[in-house]
Amino acid sequence: MARKMLQFTRLDQRTPDKRSAGTRRVDFDEIYGRFTPDAAGDQASRCEQCGIPFCQIHCPLQNNIPDWLMLTAAGRLEEAYALSSATNSMPEICGRICPQDRLCEGSCVLEQSRHGAVTIGAVEKFITDTAWERGWVKPILPLREREQSVGIIGGGPAGMAAAEQLRAQGYQVTLYDRYDRIGGLLVYGIPGFKLEKSVVERRVDLLARSGVIFKTNFEVGRDASLPELRKTHDAVLIATGVYKARGLSIPGAGLRGVTKALDYLIASNRTGLGDRVPAFEDGTLDAKDKAVVVIGGGDTAMDCLRTAIRQGARSVKCLYRRDRANMPGSQREVINAVEEGVDFVWLTAPEAVLGDERATGVRAHRMHLGVADATGRQSPQPIAGSEFTLEADLVIEALGFEPEDLPAVFGEPRLPITRWGTIQIDPVSKMSGLDGVFAAGDIVRGASLVVWAVRDGRDAAEGIRRYLVAKAAAAPAKAAPLVNA
Ligand SMILES: Cc1cc2nc3c(=O)[nH]c(=O)nc-3n(C[C@H](O)[C@H](O)[C@H](O)COP(=O)(O)OP(=O)(O)OC[C@H]3O[C@@H](n4cnc5c(N)ncnc54)[C@H](O)[C@@H]3O)c2cc1C
Ligand code: SF4
Repeated sequence: MARKMLQFTRLDQRTPDKRSAGTRRVDFDEIYGRFTPDAAGDQASRCEQCGIPFCQIHCPLQNNIPDWLMLTAAGRLEEAYALSSATNSMPEICGRICPQDRLCEGSCVLEQSRHGAVTIGAVEKFITDTAWERGWVKPILPLREREQSVGIIGGGPAGMAAAEQLRAQGYQVTLYDRYDRIGGLLVYGIPGFKLEKSVVERRVDLLARSGVIFKTNFEVGRDASLPELRKTHDAVLIATGVYKARGLSIPGAGLRGVTKALDYLIASNRTGLGDRVPAFEDGTLDAKDKAVVVIGGGDTAMDCLRTAIRQGARSVKCLYRRDRANMPGSQREVINAVEEGVDFVWLTAPEAVLGDERATGVRAHRMHLGVADATGRQSPQPIAGSEFTLEADLVIEALGFEPEDLPAVFGEPRLPITRWGTIQIDPVSKMSGLDGVFAAGDIVRGASLVVWAVRDGRDAAEGIRRYLVAKAAAAPAKAAPLVNA
């Protein structure tokens, strides 16, 4: 059914149905349903079709949002999918897990004018889920195969997006990953209640059917060095993400029962995938019946809190040193966590983990927000005499991630890194200081978002394409075979 646009005057904002907190607390299925075709068309028709689309400007992929909303409202879903997938290598994944309130939807003029943003992410998810069901998502068939090969280290969203783009150009692509599955944090970090694993698996399968070769359980640094991969391939892309977890430096941080967020989440995700995880089976990384305290206020902390709820924890508390307005995590995720029974202890910092061998509690003190620093952010200050103790037999550190020491790990001391340990690249070509070695995603940006990893992977693929075209042009022409010699 064709609809007129600008229907925000008539139609209120609607999001897809959310499962009740009671039902979603007991499983790891996604919590949001999907629009019906009618609801998607209606919600898309609310778009104002702005002359300057701020949603598009604030989408890291510069998705052509107004046009695919207009096509959805007109019921032209196959064209909407073609347009949406032209700029995004995984629209249904971004539609599910982008923090839209900080990106496209946060900049929607309807949001600014208090009408409620167009529900862009939910429509994007609807379009591509429909495309999968109707068979419009097809493996890549390059117009011509090229001999040149690219080795990609890291099968997260940055590596996957680059692999897709390079295969489309006909390059031979091998994706190396130290895990046993491709997908990076999409598989092992982000829990199923935000992104079901089958959604990632069908993307991975599509890449395989497009001719991308996967070498899993292959750790660069252990199974091959970077110099060796450079000899094997015409270009190499490093897309390894950031995995060195920041830990607590307080007394008791080494006690049993204190664990890193990613170890905890990987154990949960693996268990959900049917893998045997001894540390989960023996209870070390299982929150069942435990008093859980998660320290941190970002998306990783939210995922740990909500995972602990689903594992049947006795109580789940989040300790964060700033207040709700100043936390880095998405507000949508905080709302979901509160609904599910998480208790937030704002303006609180841990002082010590208590216990003999095992953690039994966390001693903490209250904070207040002091004067703003040079970045404009108020720095938290402890309030003297405000100490108190929380019961805790599982303490999860969700304090962020840093890059590993890649020059050492990769056996290539000349790999240029910044003072934060991220890889230094040329902003235009995306190439590092090593000829033919490119980098993308969190390992360049620091811990960031899936949508930025996709953008970086696509940009790096374009840098690699230019590099390989120039390399092929500079290569001496092969001698013509002698006839009748
Ligand atoms: C718990 C959690 C929740 C998150 N939630 C969200 C969210 O809701 N929305 C959002 O947009 N973002 C979220 N993020 C951030 C997002 O997942 C990352 O920004 C994104 O995955 C980065 O992509 P990447 O490809 O750069 O790296 P990754 O996804 O980390 O992938 C890197 C890959 O490289 C592999 N690798 C590393 N070293 C080697 C080596 N030496 N040899 C071979 N392979 C190697 C790893 O095994 C991994 O598969 C979350 C992150 C975490 C930790
Ligand atoms: S990719 Fe993310 S930011 Fe861009 S339109 Fe989709 S949901 Fe919004």
